[in-house]
Amino acid sequence: MMLTDQFQRPLHDLRISVTDRCNFRCPYCMPAEIFHERYEFLSRHELLSFEEIVRLTAIIVGFGAFKVRITGGEPLLRRGIHELIRQVSRIAGVEDLTMTTNAFLLPQHAESLRAAGLQRITISLDSLDEAVFQAMNGVGARVAQVMAGIAAAQAAGFQPIKINCVVQRGVNDHTLVDLARYGIEQGLIVRFIEYMDVGTMNGWRMDDVVPAQEIVSRIHEALPLEPITRNYTAETALRFRYRDGAGEIGVIASVTQPFCGACSRLRLSAKGELFTCLFANTGTDIRSLLRDGSTDEEIRGFLADLWGGREDRYSEIRHELTEPLEDKVEMYHIGG
Ligand code: SAM
Ligand code: SF4
Ligand code: SF4
Repeated sequence: MMLTDQFQRPLHDLRISVTDRCNFRCPYCMPAEIFHERYEFLSRHELLSFEEIVRLTAIIVGFGAFKVRITGGEPLLRRGIHELIRQVSRIAGVEDLTMTTNAFLLPQHAESLRAAGLQRITISLDSLDEAVFQAMNGVGARVAQVMAGIAAAQAAGFQPIKINCVVQRGVNDHTLVDLARYGIEQGLIVRFIEYMDVGTMNGWRMDDVVPAQEIVSRIHEALPLEPITRNYTAETALRFRYRDGAGEIGVIASVTQPFCGACSRLRLSAKGELFTCLFANTGTDIRSLLRDGSTDEEIRGFLADLWGGREDRYSEIRHELTEPLEDKVEMYHIGG
């Protein structure tokens, strides 16, 4: 049975956050002042087990979701992640299984992830400038360490590999062309993401956002671009290719050109809450149903009500809000 929400949007994508922990402290996501040594992350018992994740994923796939992204926190910190990938890849109907990672631990994992059935990978890398990158990962991780992860992903046969770069004015916006060039050299699709007002802890201001149009024109000046059509309607990235045929980039304009009208994403947090929007302030607990003996049929009914009642379109109405939303969910909970 296919589900549609209040605006006739289908449920096509599921994003699964497998941990709330991370080995980075990107200030725009998990600022080190808040996520310090004594910060209490979820305990093992609070996390959904692989069995619970797989059961729920199979039910959601039964409603028409065919794209599954494994994310976090940092998904490679979840013990046994390959086993989860193996199980999810075997669910009939999962056509596209991907992961978003900061790649710090990828050299030791790339091959086994590929063997387990992971189809694609997106690696976050905000700048090739050492000082800028270190400030943006908050723990002094070096560019070479991420590059080693990219090389390992290439060697394991992931293709194409996408790179996520969150663009912040005055932080890394002077280093975008270098990253674009590196993408061309390495055959990577770099996706420049407008810095978003997710969560409440990163001190987001509109002034920190470099609009997609400006990102594109800055790159175009050095490396001429032309637009290409989206692969499918719910694709988040605006796509451009280099005029000389050197490859393509994506720009995710979630702030300045919102795409709520085609948003088909459901997000599952590491502790088993469902979020029908990246900017929701409350999740819907599904873990208790998974643990109280509810049948698949009961869970299906619950999900049908949740998606059927969905009215979210935060990015489209952001400018109409007179006050910022309070208590929005943090990115590291639901993984972007
Ligand atoms: N730790 C993994 C990583 O960084 O790739 C996966 C989780 S991370 C939350 C997923 C993606 O969200 C990353 O590419 C990250 O750069 C992006 N992200 C986090 N906070 C963001 C923000 N405020 N605005 C835009 N993108 C953000
Ligand atoms: Fe960690 Fe990814 Fe968030 Fe950076 S963006 S703090 S790597 S979860
Ligand atoms: Fe989807 Fe919410 Fe983002 Fe709109 S604001 S695109 S509904 S996640």
